Amino acid sequence: MQPARHIANVKYAIRNIAAEAAKLEAQGMKILSCNIGDPLKFDFQTPPHLIEVVTKALRDNCNQYVPSAGLKEARVAVAAASKTPLRMEDVFITSGVSEALDLALTSLLEEGDEVLLPSPGYPLYNAIAARLRAKVLSYPLDEEKGWAIDAEAIAKLVTPRTKAIVVCNPNNPTGAIATRAQLEAVLGIARKHDLCVLSDEIYDRLLFDDVHVPTSTLANDVPLITLNGLSKAYLAPGWRVGWLTFNTPKLMPEVMTAVQRLADARLCGPGPFQYAIKPALEGSQQHVPAMMTKLRSRRDLMVSKLRAIPGISVVEPKGAFYALPRLDKQWEGGDEQFVLSLVRETGVLFVHGEGFGQKAGTQHFRVVFLPQENVLSEAFDRLATFMKKSK
Ligand code: PLP
Repeated sequence: MQPARHIANVKYAIRNIAAEAAKLEAQGMKILSCNIGDPLKFDFQTPPHLIEVVTKALRDNCNQYVPSAGLKEARVAVAAASKTPLRMEDVFITSGVSEALDLALTSLLEEGDEVLLPSPGYPLYNAIAARLRAKVLSYPLDEEKGWAIDAEAIAKLVTPRTKAIVVCNPNNPTGAIATRAQLEAVLGIARKHDLCVLSDEIYDRLLFDDVHVPTSTLANDVPLITLNGLSKAYLAPGWRVGWLTFNTPKLMPEVMTAVQRLADARLCGPGPFQYAIKPALEGSQQHVPAMMTKLRSRRDLMVSKLRAIPGISVVEPKGAFYALPRLDKQWEGGDEQFVLSLVRETGVLFVHGEGFGQKAGTQHFRVVFLPQENVLSEAFDRLATFMKKSK
């Protein structure tokens, strides 16, 4: 029995590289993991008030199916937390942002339709497009300008088959934050060509200094879907709670109906965990500054350690917990080979830039700077030694 052909294009580098590391670990090697964006694998904990609410829901027999679009109180809370007016009906609660993206893109894209995705960008977007047999056109983010969105490059890619543009802000894997002007330029292109903008804002609260501008605050005349959830700032990735909001529902009632039909067909997202949404959005946010204090010193340590290594340069991330440093010279076999050689020789685990759809021929690797400073320090020292040896 053979799997369907379109699966050949579904790749997820983050987990593929982890499989190699698991093999090395089984052979007794200690791995310094700077590869997975799960804060719970490090010294971050889910806020206790959220755990209490979910535990109570489990005990109180709230274990049945919930409505396919989500628990009412959760939808109301997401609508109320939005910076722009939303109705409960505009909100769909999903199994993480992953499923929200899947529902939105499946509702929008026919086979052969084109979707504009950031490069570098989060690989799930490409995986979903591959499954839908949609065509991906990657728009480059400009490393020289701090990984800025280059609207001119986007405009050149639009064809009559283009349906949607995905924006990831703050971005995974670069940690860059889009400016108001960049977002307005994207919205201008969408307006001109009647494209839907999907704004993935899952890292919107994990900011160092810059402000985050929600795309929805900049236009009410462009088809716009915003995605967010509890996995990152609310430290509950395993609960699989996310949502999508239709910010301009009047411009896309049929797409909303399509999302509702898909949501109905899969019954519902995980019910008991949806009870955490209201207290997450309306309760104490204390854990966020606490998290950012830790992340700031880890980011600063990472940047200074990396900049001290000859042959590596890095744009300082402004949000989230990722950076995408560059190797100044070509590595034989590309950046995947670099990451594999590094982990085999030193146990330090990153993900190669190519896994994030980075332009062919460029040499990058993604660092997750969630680990504690002693681990990061050790990892970058080993990287420095490895770079020196391979000169
Ligand atoms: N979007 C981006 C940019 C991400 O980095 C991630 C996870 O790392 C997701 C979506 C998936 O989020 P979730 O855990 O809510 O499915």
